[in-house]
Amino acid sequence: MDPAIDRFPNLPERIDGLGDLACNLWWSWHPAARMLFKMLDRPAWKESVHNPVRMLREIPLEILKSAASNPDYLTHYDMILARSHSEMEAETCWFTENIVKSKCSPIAYFSAEYGLHRSLPFYAGGLGFLAGDHLKECSDLGIPLVAMGFMYPEGYLRQKVRVDGWQEHVAEALDRDAAPIERVFDDKGQRLVVKVPFIDPPLYVAVWKVAVGLTTLYLMDTDMELNDPWNRSISAHLYIGDIEQRLRQEIVLGIGGSEVLNTIGIRHSVLHLNEGHPAFAILERIRKRVEGGMSFDDAAQQARNTTVFTTHTPVPAGHDIFPFHLMDKYFSHYYPKLGLDRDAFLRLGIHPEQPAAGFNMTAFALRMSASNNGVSKRHGEVARRMWRSLWPDRKEEDVPIDSITNGIHVPTWIEPKMELLFNKYLPEGWLKNHDDPHIWDFIDDIPDKELWQTYIWVKIKLIDFIRERARIRWVADRPGPINIIAGGTLLDPLTFTVGFARRFVTYKRPDLIFHNLERLKKLLNNRWRPLQIIFAGKAHPADDEGKRILQRIFNFALDPDLGGRIAFVEDYDEQLAQYLVHGVDLWLNNPVPPLEASGTSGMKAGLNGVPNLSILDGWWLEGYTGNNGWAFNGSGDERDAESIYDLLETKIIPLYYRLDDNGIPHGWIKVMKEAIKNTGSGFSARRMVKEYATKFYRSALKSAVSGTSS
Ligand SMILES: *Cc1c(COP(=O)(O)O)cnc(C)c1O
Repeated sequence: MDPAIDRFPNLPERIDGLGDLACNLWWSWHPAARMLFKMLDRPAWKESVHNPVRMLREIPLEILKSAASNPDYLTHYDMILARSHSEMEAETCWFTENIVKSKCSPIAYFSAEYGLHRSLPFYAGGLGFLAGDHLKECSDLGIPLVAMGFMYPEGYLRQKVRVDGWQEHVAEALDRDAAPIERVFDDKGQRLVVKVPFIDPPLYVAVWKVAVGLTTLYLMDTDMELNDPWNRSISAHLYIGDIEQRLRQEIVLGIGGSEVLNTIGIRHSVLHLNEGHPAFAILERIRKRVEGGMSFDDAAQQARNTTVFTTHTPVPAGHDIFPFHLMDKYFSHYYPKLGLDRDAFLRLGIHPEQPAAGFNMTAFALRMSASNNGVSKRHGEVARRMWRSLWPDRKEEDVPIDSITNGIHVPTWIEPKMELLFNKYLPEGWLKNHDDPHIWDFIDDIPDKELWQTYIWVKIKLIDFIRERARIRWVADRPGPINIIAGGTLLDPLTFTVGFARRFVTYKRPDLIFHNLERLKKLLNNRWRPLQIIFAGKAHPADDEGKRILQRIFNFALDPDLGGRIAFVEDYDEQLAQYLVHGVDLWLNNPVPPLEASGTSGMKAGLNGVPNLSILDGWWLEGYTGNNGWAFNGSGDERDAESIYDLLETKIIPLYYRLDDNGIPHGWIKVMKEAIKNTGSGFSARRMVKEYATKFYRSALKSAVSGTSS
């Protein structure tokens, strides 16, 4: 039986294609497809938090029946289904026209997290969204790629802030049946369960999949009765703190993930590792070749030529290092299979500057991949310096770590009303060809008034959303007025609004703008040209320092001396991120340089006409042109905070409030337009994925072909 029909028994035959459509995230980056679900019943759509699988399961039969006999609905339905089929079955695509003409076996992409949609809580932050956007773009470009990751049934930690400002977490279990994921079955129709090799006592994973357009993401789930309790929780959360459990998690990801692909019968030609967590997958590629009779050196060379590794963090603590005694415990049966002794094996993961620290996953991945990259030009430089001791006989600039600057998936991150406006003034097919820089010149043709009206509509939508969240929290948890005030109920749509939303970690300095409270108060409380600031973000559950910063900001939000102009919105997730990057006036970013490898939230803002005020670090070193936002150099907390006040006081706020007789700020709109043009043309996932394909995938795929034939 067709699994989609099985899952949605209520769907009338005339519109049963909705089931397949709901089960492929393709709908999430096609607004017209999204509309198809929304048109069925707006309240139900909202109630499902935009999850069509849940909605189709819960919606009353009468609504479906009436849609199935509504000619307007059916016209739209037929159009969307035809479009989806034609995109899924296209004969030619960018990849076959530019990279590899004939059919080739896929690239396997491994990542510990994926940020794809609010209904799939498999992410912690930027790394995950980068991976999610990568998959969507590969689908759009027709790049044959399969992805591997974890299911994290308790991945979503709902953030609740106590009345004293301390962050607490409530784990929310995923309802697997209502999520846009599907079980994977074997040839006999049995649930696919795979035994992770080389772990004793045995450990099993159940396999799920998510359809992301043409790309398939496989997800492993250890929460099965077959596993003993210690093993069941391996895939419960992202990034387990306990070091041994963390090692086991990464063994499951790299080695278990390879075994899953093997069992399904997917022979991948190239491996792309998104950060070091899944790097054990490299071992499996070597082991298979050694088993086939190759020497370790030859096998390693072949694996290396066909492996791409992307490193993401200049923060030293962001790299996993496993102590040798744990490596012995889990790998003493493994390294003989590679034809290596213990020392030779452990040497693969040693960082020469701290040889006694243990097995460093990043050092290992860098050594074992021919194609390595950081995620912005600056991060490439930082990574070459950071890891130069792995190549002692090379000069720093010759360390083999390249850079490919991150980008965002444009159809996912553009606000739908903005997209409609662009449809009116940009050339036909602009979204399909959005990495053609000339397309973006047409942004200048949008009349200021129209852009401003659209933008104000989006901003009001943000403030409505924040108030509605506060209202729901008020009714559901009865937290008292404190959370409701801090949560943004006093926000004013006419006030100049700064947004700061990202993970709360010390190096990002979320509270930097409070450094000189008196200066800040003057800006907030300015009678004619006030400022308000919206904060959102989660601290890692184990990071008390991050929680203290959050608490400090929460308490400022409650201080009447700050005029009700500070809001802390709880529970930062993909949905809130969408509203914030679309609807604030200015996006603030002030990490300690050079610790921001790239940053992507500022790109999401820029694409929607929200200029950045950012320290010169990560992508902004490449993105800042002098007229698309504002920039300052890092020189310590005190000076950085003063730079922010100076820019706000003398440049940014006056420009925002300089209106013509019709209330239009033409000077500000000029900056908005430059922000859109710059991000759209330079910082899309389209540009990024094409770079991965031309710089890395092409040559790796070539090596894969010659490797198997030799
Ligand atoms: C884009 C995004 C991020 C990454 O933001 P940074 O700029 O890297 O801080 C984190 N979380 C969510 C929900 C996002 O959408």
